[in-house]
Parts: sequence; C-alpha cells; structure tokens
Amino acid sequence: MHSVEEVQKLSVLAPATGEIIAEIEETPVHEVPFFYQEARKAFGAWSSLAISERTGYLRKLKQLMVDEMDEIAKIISDDTGKVLTESIVADIMPTLDAIDHIIKHAEKVLSRQKVKTPLLLIGKKSFIEYMPRGVVLVISPWNYPLQLAMVPMISALAGGNSVILKPSEVTPLVGKCIEDLFRRSGFPEGTVQVAHGGKEVGAAFTSGKPDYIFFTGSVRTGKIIQQQAAKDLIPTTLELGGKDPMIVFEDANLDRAVKAAAWGAFTNSGQVCMSAERLYVERSIYGKFLEKLKKEVNSLQQGNDINSDVGSMTFPAQKDVVREQLDEALERGAKLETGLKPSDWKEDMFLPLTVITEVEQDMKIIQEESFGPLLPVVPFDREEEAIAYANGTVYGLNASVWTQDKAKARRVASKLVSGAVVINDVLITVANHGLPFGGTKESGIGRYHSEAGLKIFCHEKAIMEDMGFMKSEIQWYPYKGKYPLFLNLFKSYFADKRDWLTFAKNYIALLKSNK
Ligand code: ADP
Repeated sequence: MHSVEEVQKLSVLAPATGEIIAEIEETPVHEVPFFYQEARKAFGAWSSLAISERTGYLRKLKQLMVDEMDEIAKIISDDTGKVLTESIVADIMPTLDAIDHIIKHAEKVLSRQKVKTPLLLIGKKSFIEYMPRGVVLVISPWNYPLQLAMVPMISALAGGNSVILKPSEVTPLVGKCIEDLFRRSGFPEGTVQVAHGGKEVGAAFTSGKPDYIFFTGSVRTGKIIQQQAAKDLIPTTLELGGKDPMIVFEDANLDRAVKAAAWGAFTNSGQVCMSAERLYVERSIYGKFLEKLKKEVNSLQQGNDINSDVGSMTFPAQKDVVREQLDEALERGAKLETGLKPSDWKEDMFLPLTVITEVEQDMKIIQEESFGPLLPVVPFDREEEAIAYANGTVYGLNASVWTQDKAKARRVASKLVSGAVVINDVLITVANHGLPFGGTKESGIGRYHSEAGLKIFCHEKAIMEDMGFMKSEIQWYPYKGKYPLFLNLFKSYFADKRDWLTFAKNYIALLKSNK
C-alpha cells in the first residue's frame, strides 16, 4: 500500500522507566479509504451471520485472552506505567466480563422484539428489529487502553457491524496487542481493522464517513469529533471526562470511606475518568477523617514492581495539567496535606500522591479534570450544601455518597446530576456490565454497557405486519362521510371512561363506508 520511506514510526516509551521499548508503524492517512473499503466489503457477510455465530468468535477471543492474561497485563503495564495488579483488575477483567455479558445477552437483546399494538390498529402486529449500522469507528484513549477500546468494539461486532479501531498513540503497544488478539481469534478479513497513529490519523478516519463513531477521550477532542460528525450527520457516543465528587456524611463507616477515598483518587495514578477528584466531608468528622486519610495515603507504595500500589503517570503532557492546577491552588492559599509542591517534583513520571485542603470552589483543582493524583478535601455543613458543591462543575460522570442512613443516601444520590452514583463504595458501577455507563453534561453523550451498549450500534427498525386481506383501511380514501364517524370513534375511545358501544358502532360504520 505504501513505500517504506513514507512510513512514520510511533516510538513506544515505557513511562515507568523512560525507556523506548518498541516502534510501531503509523497508518498513512492516504490508506483511510482502503480501510473503509475493506470494512464495507466485510460487513455484508459479517452482518448476515446469526448472532450466535458472531458470539462464537467472541468466545475464541475470550479464551485467547484468558490463556495469555499475564502477557497482556505486562504489555498494558509497560505501555501505561500502571501497576500489574491494575492492568489485570481494571483493564483485562472488565473486558472479559463484557465479552461474557455480551455472549450471554446479545441474542436476546438484539433479536426481533414484539411490541403491543393499540386497539385502534386492530388486526396488525408490531415488532422492533435491530439492524447493524455498517462500519463503526472506535477512537480510544490511553488510560484503560484495553477495555476502552475492546468493549465498544465487541459490542459493535456482536450487533453485526464491522469495526475500525484507532487506539491512542500514547499506548500503541496495547493497540498492536488488540489487533493481534482479534487476528488470532480468526475474525473474518476486514471485520476488525486497527489503524495506528495520532490525532491526524484519528481526524482522517472521523471524516472518512463511518456509520457510527464511538469516542472515549477528552472533552476538547470530543467536541471536535462531534462537529465533524455533525457535518456528515453521523451518530456518536462520546465518553468524556469527569470530576467525580465523593460526599462523606458523619455517620459513614469512616475507615472504609478513608480507604475508598485513597483508592478512588489514586488508582491508576488518578488517570481515571471516574476517579474521586473532589472529597466533601461533613465538618463534624473533617479533622478526624483528614488525619486518617493522610496516614492511609502515606502508607501507599509507588513503583512498578508486582507489589506496588500506585504506578506512574502515562502521558508526559498530563503532568503539566496537574502542575498547573496545583500551582494555582497553592498560590491562592491552599495547603498541602501530603505530596510536594510541583517545583520539588522529581523528573520522572511518578507524581506525589497529593491531598490538599483550604481550596476554593472556583479553583481549577475543583472545576477542571485533574487526571492525576490530586485530591482536594473540602468540609461541608449541610446536605444541600454538599449536593450543590457536587453538582457545581461542568462534569457529571460518577459520584459517591457515604452514610449508614439508607434513606439519606438514596435521597442525595437521586439529586446528583451524574451518569452514575455509588453508595458506600467508589467507581464500582462500571464493573457491572448490566448497568449503563456514560455521562451527563460535558461528561458525554450517550450510554454503553448494558442493553444500551448493544443497541446503540444498531438501527432500531419499526415493523408492522398486516395480513393484507382487507381491501382498504378506514383512514384511507375516500374520506366522504367519515369525519363524524371518526369524531365519535375518537371521543368514545379517548374518553376517561371508554364508551365501548359507541366505539364499536362507529368502527363498524367506518369499515362499511370503505365498501
Ligand atoms: P486523551 O488525552 O484522554 O488521550 P484525547 O482526546 O487527546 O484524550 O485522545 C483520545 C483519542 O482521540 C486518541 O486516540 C487520539 O489520538 C484521538 N484524537 C485526538 N484528536 C483527534 C481528532 N482531532 N480527531 C480524531 N481523533 C483524535
């Protein structure tokens, strides 16, 4: 397709060690039409398979991933700098669980569904059919590079679509690994293709007229993609950022809440769209909570060996975002409870785990996504105040509420403008594939996982069947003499207390007037 001189290479830098560990060929943008051609060619046969035949391929994929779990975990950790435990628990496990869920439910969710037909349409039957859209473009990020690419891919594939993936250029080894896994699972040629490269490659694919775009990444890029998609009227799902609040009331199980805050904020070094990014603690327990939290955070081990708790940052530019937010907060009088001021940071990609207090609600550290190991802690006095704080950003992805009072927990949860809320735990909704996943406000558009995650990749086609015996229908021409009959028919039918006799009389009269 292209001469050797043209090929650009993506260097793979292991963030934890700073070493270049591989080079991967970038997909030249002039090949974009060829990818779409192949995908469209493959679509015909793939979409004609029974769902059970398609899920058969997913079974093979799953078994391969089970057999090679340890190798895959190492690739993810090398590429991202995350600790091995997190590669397996938070990237591989959710992918396998999603495959399981899809194998189990796809057939039922995507089969033709019968729907009730109202009496006025007597004699007809109604159905919904799910028709694959065609070629789905998945653009994925670097923080959970396996699951955030593979879960939309397998959802789209199960529905009969062919898929083009453009994984993040920040973690190209995982992109290569995904390509290899699908290839070795025997998916038919062209059904799954992976294009490597950065934003120019992503943009070229976005404007290549796919039938659906599933994007996970930053709000900034999400808006660019949505604009391009609008030009071609392409439907999208956008999974964007978060600034998730954690609200702790005085009656919460404190020790558990402290551990949850540390894990929720610092897992994957805070590079999680649904990490706990703001901690609101009821004032009566604030001091005690903070002391326990500092102790917990100071006990965590950073590194890249098998027993480490927190790995490195993945993307060098992300360090600057964290630095800028922290610098602003410190300049405006915030106080470091753990961690270091940015000027004392080391050169490497391991950022200090930073708990910070005395922050204001209008600081960047409260309003903007940090995507790093920063945890601002703020006291509150009243339930309404905590809810207002929690709802006071442009984001709304996930949130958590901590209290032993079930009624209060549920009351607060239902007032949070958020795609998900967890009570007495953090993040965990994402691990139940049966629940929808997605954001409100600038956290995104649309949902996946659950039934929604399969249905978005299909057109919902409405079908009505008539036996075709009758010569005409009551609402067809000629209209002569029909108006008063319809008037009586609808008045009797839609009245609060339905008048069946009048309904039947007028319906029969309408039928007769068709002769
Ligand atoms: P993150 O910082 O979370 O990776 P980005 O939004 O920068 O978020 O990147 C997410 C994905 O979007 C990556 O695969 C990236 O290459 C891709 N991307 C970035 N800019 C564009 C663009 N203009 N059009 C299409 N894809 C893009």
